[in-house]
Amino acid sequence: MNSDIGFLLAAYFFTLLLGLAIGSFLNVLIYRVPRGLSIVWPPSHCPVCGHRLAWKDNIPLLSYLLLRGKCRYCGARISPRYPLVEAANALLYLGLAWRFGFQRLLVFYWALASLILALSVIDLEHHRLPDPLTLALGIIGFLYQLSRHQWMYGLLGGILGLLLGGLIYLLATWVYGPNAFGLGDVKYLAAIGVWGGPFAVPIILFLASLFGTLGGLIIAWRRRTLRVGIPFGPFLSGAFLLTILLPQGIM
Ligand SMILES: [Zn+2]
Repeated sequence: MNSDIGFLLAAYFFTLLLGLAIGSFLNVLIYRVPRGLSIVWPPSHCPVCGHRLAWKDNIPLLSYLLLRGKCRYCGARISPRYPLVEAANALLYLGLAWRFGFQRLLVFYWALASLILALSVIDLEHHRLPDPLTLALGIIGFLYQLSRHQWMYGLLGGILGLLLGGLIYLLATWVYGPNAFGLGDVKYLAAIGVWGGPFAVPIILFLASLFGTLGGLIIAWRRRTLRVGIPFGPFLSGAFLLTILLPQGIM
């Protein structure tokens, strides 16, 4: 029995390190994809002084703590977004390993978590959901459904997401004008539908609208105005994650 516990501890430790490392890569995606930059070239550098980063400047979490959130070369402040994304990705990886156990499909859940984390942070910062990332989410979702012999279910979920998202897009544009619910949100909902299947789509939409309304009201109250433009993507992500992580998962 002791070796089982040892194996499990090692597996969780590996999960933590992998989550941090992939989280570090997500920071590259989050910075470069919305700006249309290559994700492989040039190598990591400080966005302020342009100095290339050494391996010791690139260790997830640790480098940020050791450098006290400043660039080693020019002293510019490093956004706390970097360690936060790394920590969030590692926590998601650990949570999913705990929820589903160390099984074949876990890699898919990890890929899913990383993509929706990157999409949410980009949506918060830039108010858009880049096509390459939503497309990757949809394709990996379809591979996930294929590997569990449920591709028809995934396809139906994707179509329903597209239809419902399109309907909301038309209604929102008609009632609130453009940018209330973007085309990026429609594609994101379709990709989520591929993962969750047709039954998950209305549930996720309902939860996301509920969270979005609450979030909007809180922000409106704090800013003392009803005119608040908040991206919908992070609420979709939150609702989606909730449906995956709940014990009575609908996926
Ligand atoms: Zn610098």
